Amino acid sequence: MKYKELVDVYESLNSTTKRLEKTTILAEFLKNTDAEILPIVTLLSLGKVFPTWSEKEMGVGLKILMKAISLVVGVSPEAVEDSVRDRGDIGLASEYLFSNRFQSTLFTMPLTIVKVYNNMEKMADKSGKKAQGKKIEILRELLSSASPKEAKYITRTVLEELRVGLGEGTLKDAISEAFNINKEVVERAMMLTNDPGLVAEVAKEEGEEGLKNLTLIPGKPVKPMLAQLSKSVKDDIKEMGYALCEVKYDGFRVQIHRIRDEIKVFTRRLDNIKDAVPEIVEYIENCLPHKDFIVEGEIIAMREGKPISFQYVLQRVRRKYEVERLRLEVPLTLYLFDTLYFEKPLIDTPFEQRRKILESISKIDDGKFGLSTQVKVTPEHTAYAEDLFKLAIEKGHEGIMIKDPHAPYMPGIRGKKMLKFKATPETLDLVIVGGIYGRGRRANLIGSYLVAAQDGTGALKTIAHTATGLDDNTLLELSNKVESSIIEKKGRKVKSEPEIILEVAFSEIVKSPEYEGGYSLRFPVVKRIREDLSIEDIDTVERVESIFKSKS
Ligand code: ATP
Repeated sequence: MKYKELVDVYESLNSTTKRLEKTTILAEFLKNTDAEILPIVTLLSLGKVFPTWSEKEMGVGLKILMKAISLVVGVSPEAVEDSVRDRGDIGLASEYLFSNRFQSTLFTMPLTIVKVYNNMEKMADKSGKKAQGKKIEILRELLSSASPKEAKYITRTVLEELRVGLGEGTLKDAISEAFNINKEVVERAMMLTNDPGLVAEVAKEEGEEGLKNLTLIPGKPVKPMLAQLSKSVKDDIKEMGYALCEVKYDGFRVQIHRIRDEIKVFTRRLDNIKDAVPEIVEYIENCLPHKDFIVEGEIIAMREGKPISFQYVLQRVRRKYEVERLRLEVPLTLYLFDTLYFEKPLIDTPFEQRRKILESISKIDDGKFGLSTQVKVTPEHTAYAEDLFKLAIEKGHEGIMIKDPHAPYMPGIRGKKMLKFKATPETLDLVIVGGIYGRGRRANLIGSYLVAAQDGTGALKTIAHTATGLDDNTLLELSNKVESSIIEKKGRKVKSEPEIILEVAFSEIVKSPEYEGGYSLRFPVVKRIREDLSIEDIDTVERVESIFKSKS
């Protein structure tokens, strides 16, 4: 098939902004394309040469491209640069330069789609010292047979900026229209394979049934299942029947694939970052010594038992250089939470079972590799979810996930089967003005603390009772301190001098007539004792109000 035919489609797509028209233009073209080149055509129509997850890259920047153009059209690289600057687009500049070219080859064969694709693939294969020169040569050879319009789109494709206003959504609709297939079936096939070329080819050759048989395979990443915010932990657990609640780690989500001996670590954007995280690859080799699987988890970095900032993890996973030095400085920790494939695809297997499979195949290595902390919570005992939330915040994590044990894995879907409940990023520094003794084994410990903020005049206004999320030793220390400043005692309740300041995390601020400040905190958890602050430094009711207003 001639490249010109694809170029005509690009031009028609460009001539309309209406999505339905674009869909029909592309659908007609896909219908008339031979199945064997359909995968290439499909990718090229999206302005891509390789699927998103492929490790292949053309590695051609604007400079190299301008050099090749200058050689073909016989002008200086500076003249090409000027033209690109004037038109603000490599494609328009190339079209102009090719229409006015001085050098022309005497006889050229018309370009085919396969030829264009092959040359682009060849460029991706070139690496090492002399790669740049070889790439220029490949481009020169390709462009010397190109018409002005062909040059316009070849150059844009090389830089991955096709500009015909066609996204994956329109492509999916076009495949559905071209081969008369239910949209949801195309959608699902695309979700599972992330391979538009394969989906188009199977749609043409095998129709809807063929697409239904496509499934995920190790090596090709799947779009991750996403979470909605939980409005009420209690109601959500009730709705699920019971829930599997987990610590929500604030790190970097990864989908790890093993295909025989090869391990790939994909990001949410489906890039393979395995070279940036060699320790993660080692943990997988040691702790999941199996063939062919897909698991999912979160990478975090810990220092002295506490997670360090997400920004740090982000820097690590993006690093190409000095990886070994950095991994010695702060090694990464991996917490897995799901299995998508083990011996067979598991996405239709209920979550509870997927997790059991994960447990049965993993060897925990403390501090390096583990599974997300999980608790089964029934509607009768939702306090366990609250305890998990406190534990998570105390340990420096983000909150909890609430997962439906019966749910399948739903790639790319942000639904109600997986929910998140987080502490706000803001914390409040509040002073203890009283407390309540515990019961039973904890009868001699103050377990819940009444905390207050200050108003504009410096007067203290209570706003919450917070049970500590602190470990036993810190709790004992805190209880002793408050005991020594008690000024009034009534049953289990005490009032104390306002001396001890706590940093308190919470999930939400709500209006509350029960407390003097007029507001209260939902899910308050003590993050730490602020010995460095004095009473004048505590937060104000005004700040509490402004956080409340900013969220409502
Ligand atoms: P957020 O910023 O809240 O993470 P998001 O859009 O990045 O939002 P969501 O899908 O809304 O992602 O929230 C779920 C994210 O939480 C997952 O993508 C994953 O990275 C992370 N996470 C941490 N711990 C877990 C866990 N135990 N189970 C599932 N996801 C977890």
